[in-house]
Amino acid sequence: MNIASILGKFCYSGVCLKSVCKSRVNPFRIQVLRMGLLTEGSPLTWEETKALAEHVRQHGIEQFINLYKKLRDRTGDVLKWGDEVEYIIVKFDDENQRATVSLRADEILPELQKKELEDPQNVKSLWRPEYGAYMIEGTPGKPYGGLLAHFNIVEANMKFRRAEASTLLKDGEVIMSITNFPRLGCPGFTSPPYEPTPSSGVTRSHFFPDESIYPGHPRFKTLTSNIRHRRGEKMAVNLPIFRDVNTKIPVDNYHELEKGVAQPDCVYMDAMGMGMGCCCLQLTFQACCITEARTLYDQLAPLCPIMLALSAASPIYRGYLTEVDCRWNVISASVDCRTREERGLEPLKNNKFRIQKSRYDSIDSYLSPEHEKYNDIQIVHDPNIYRRLREGGIDHPLALHVAHLFIRDTVSLFSEKVNQDDENDTDHFENIQSTNWQTMRFKPPPPNSRIGWRVEFRPCEAQLTDFENAAYVCFVVLLTRVILSYRLNFVLPISKVDENMQRAQRRGACTQEKFWFRRDVRSPDADVYAEMTINEIVNGKDGVFPGLVPLIESYLSGMDVDADTHCSVQQYLKLIQRRAAGEISTMATWMREFVTQHPAYQKDSVVSEKINYDLLKTAHGIQTGSIAAPTLLGSSNVSKTNEDIPKAFTKMMNKDCP
Ligand code: GLU
Ligand code: MG
Repeated sequence: MNIASILGKFCYSGVCLKSVCKSRVNPFRIQVLRMGLLTEGSPLTWEETKALAEHVRQHGIEQFINLYKKLRDRTGDVLKWGDEVEYIIVKFDDENQRATVSLRADEILPELQKKELEDPQNVKSLWRPEYGAYMIEGTPGKPYGGLLAHFNIVEANMKFRRAEASTLLKDGEVIMSITNFPRLGCPGFTSPPYEPTPSSGVTRSHFFPDESIYPGHPRFKTLTSNIRHRRGEKMAVNLPIFRDVNTKIPVDNYHELEKGVAQPDCVYMDAMGMGMGCCCLQLTFQACCITEARTLYDQLAPLCPIMLALSAASPIYRGYLTEVDCRWNVISASVDCRTREERGLEPLKNNKFRIQKSRYDSIDSYLSPEHEKYNDIQIVHDPNIYRRLREGGIDHPLALHVAHLFIRDTVSLFSEKVNQDDENDTDHFENIQSTNWQTMRFKPPPPNSRIGWRVEFRPCEAQLTDFENAAYVCFVVLLTRVILSYRLNFVLPISKVDENMQRAQRRGACTQEKFWFRRDVRSPDADVYAEMTINEIVNGKDGVFPGLVPLIESYLSGMDVDADTHCSVQQYLKLIQRRAAGEISTMATWMREFVTQHPAYQKDSVVSEKINYDLLKTAHGIQTGSIAAPTLLGSSNVSKTNEDIPKAFTKMMNKDCP
């Protein structure tokens, strides 16, 4: 494998440099990182990239076939897992009572990555760039394993990461794991301030200046430009505004400026950054073999909308309260590279397919043969590619999945990467795979590595505190254990999962909506579905469904677990249970309440500079533990302050038990 080909693995949302399940002995890694950070690479123009779309597709498919042949029988890998948290660098200007995003990720990241370069075996954290010039992404230095005691390190590691990044901040700056910066896209929302350039640059937005895109790697701007070019017009996101008594409709005059695109009763956004500039909490699991990975992929897919609603944390966009609580559809539209023909707005002439979804969306099919019957929506694919995959020995559902991913064109190609050795390289496969940003991702082992088959769980919104992020992470990991141990079956027809994804994003969905769910998760055959609230799903419904937490409790009761880990896990489960029951709020609801109760709020859905400042200051106080937030966190949790971190690290098991 040559260095140039490895370099491409320093890719946006790619797999190879993520900590999770990473081989600990990777002689290339340091070099890769160094090159990834220092080289500019040579992204091809959109015209060049477009001309090579078929080339990438064909070779990507051959690469997958070769990979599959080598690795399909790989078995015996153990459970490893890890989290990824994305953060925003917020800057407070106390004098003027303003909060902005600080565009300093490219100054901070090289510092944060130094330890990894010096001693990759022994770092506690790994840092990567994200889309925004104000974003960073942190993961644990090495994956967690199958021990229950590992649940007791997750929060401490998250705290360590936050503290580590915080040492590099300047006056007024803080690191916040908020899903969206509420005034992202408002005039002067960045530090330093920049003007958006609607008629030049890569984004061409009224709201989001190109300077807000991470400048340290060309991939982010390349993606922005190519996605817009491929679509043939600017990105368009219309979020219904929350209608308060004084809310102005039309919201502003963009419906006149962008006729037929911007809707008058919506918060209109026109940039990839308005979506991809949002943060999330993700998890990756290594399975013991491909079959287990397929099972986990399928079983976790119906839980994506449930976890999205439970983690809802982003009700405010471009300074307005909206009717949604989550980022999902915003990001989906912000990277929707489908042409008008593909979106069904014009007859097909230059394109091959009508495509129902953006490349950022909920999954379209299950992977296990026994779940094929639940694949009830159209899985658009090229029959020739499907045939080639079948000839290559890949079974029907997996061939369909890969063929479906490959309806997308490459939207970022580097000249060094065009010609590859399909026997040993996988970059063309990864190119398409890593720009299909779906709720779940099925990840084959990288070639020649110790890493096994993995799945990534991608729907959750970033939570404000490390306590909450740790709680969500542990809850999902425990669910995977319960699913595998009890052979539970959550699978629903995909159309119902899609319906749930839309319901999950509505205002107050966590307590107000009902979701399609399997009535009997313990029987593989009983295909009966009911609509249940998140409370019923999480806490149980008499005579209908035992509840996810009671199932976890029953699993844990048979396990030998030390008292302190037990105590932590109980606190985490309690948070999830209380959110589900509506006893405490999601971050989305908490933010809505903060805004609507703010003395400066005019009942007009507007989140002004002052309200935004107070909101984020208060949120930051909650994050550090200096402000209590019983309605968000409940009173039982005593969140540790930053000063506690070294203690938490040297003595993992020193949590306060209420
Ligand atoms: N920030 C994106 C989100 O909120 C995810 C980007 C990634 O795949 O890491 O979903
Ligand atoms: Mg990320």
